[in-house]
Amino acid sequence: MRNVVIIGSGPAGLTAALYTGRANLAPLLIRGVEAGGQLMLTTLVENFPGFPKGVQGQELIELMQKQAAEFGAEFMEGNVTRVDLTRRPFVLELGDQRIETRTLIIACGASAKLLGLESERKLLGHGVSTCATCDGYFFRNREVAVVGGGDTAAEDALFLTRYATQVNVIHRRDQLRASKIMQDRLMRNEKINPIWNTVVTDILDPSKGEVTGVKLKHTKTGEETLKSLDGVFIGIGHLPNTSLFAGQLEMNDVGYLITHDGSKTSVPGVFAAGDVQDPVYRQAITAAGSGCMAAMDAERFLEAEH
Ligand code: NAP
Repeated sequence: MRNVVIIGSGPAGLTAALYTGRANLAPLLIRGVEAGGQLMLTTLVENFPGFPKGVQGQELIELMQKQAAEFGAEFMEGNVTRVDLTRRPFVLELGDQRIETRTLIIACGASAKLLGLESERKLLGHGVSTCATCDGYFFRNREVAVVGGGDTAAEDALFLTRYATQVNVIHRRDQLRASKIMQDRLMRNEKINPIWNTVVTDILDPSKGEVTGVKLKHTKTGEETLKSLDGVFIGIGHLPNTSLFAGQLEMNDVGYLITHDGSKTSVPGVFAAGDVQDPVYRQAITAAGSGCMAAMDAERFLEAEH
């Protein structure tokens, strides 16, 4: 029987492991298929305080892991296949393996949606990015594109105008889904070039290991064109990794876990931290902060039970 099990190994899960470790709760952290989370997909992180020259995403995760292990956190590789939160202790199943725990911290993040192109996967981190805040700085005086028409795409595009010479917003319809205020800002910015009714059918050029352009297709006329570019930002939304908890925890209409009074979910003893419960900020530092909150909430919950 564990005191605390943490699902997820990004900054939220690792910070929860550090804090619950230091509280002598001997946490067990389960690392899944996307171990380390979205930071593993990026290169230099310049907005995590404490690293004036920046830090590589992977290195930051390794450092957090080491720090949590230093205080007794235990790590386990595996995919949680089923959870039972209807009874205490909670039960987690990883295939044949079964774990019981008094409290559970869910920090399994959200995954950026991708277009699904082979070239996109190959060039991820080499000119294709899912995070403008993380990678925009590398595109100073370059031309880039943002794919998408929602608030994420609008926000990313506006952020990128600080660096890029031109930001093409490629959207599959002729109307943005983004909020009115974001639409207005976008349309007022002269560095923004909207490309309507258009989808990206391929990203060039995986053989060169960098982005040189995109193949586009007009959704109405079917016309295909090539556009030279230095970077492509995919801003078509995120999906929280919450299917495991469907029917057991309260979620919003797109699947983000709903938390209240800090990190509490709808089931007492189950806490949520990081992107799995945050559709708005989605930064490494905010995820880490909410991991700390979940750890303290779990600690207090266990204390109150004794
Ligand atoms: P979203 O609102 O779902 O928008 C996704 C956009 O990507 C849509 O324009 C969609 O096109 C397009 N898209 C989806 N799949 C695509 C595909 N396979 N190929 C091409 N285009 C595709 O997602 P989001 O922008 O991430 O926003 C999610 C939520 O977070 C929203 O409620 C938003 O308001 C909120 N948010 C808020 C802020 C803020 O307040 N600062 C910032 C970011 C996000 P269609 O329009 O044709 O469906």
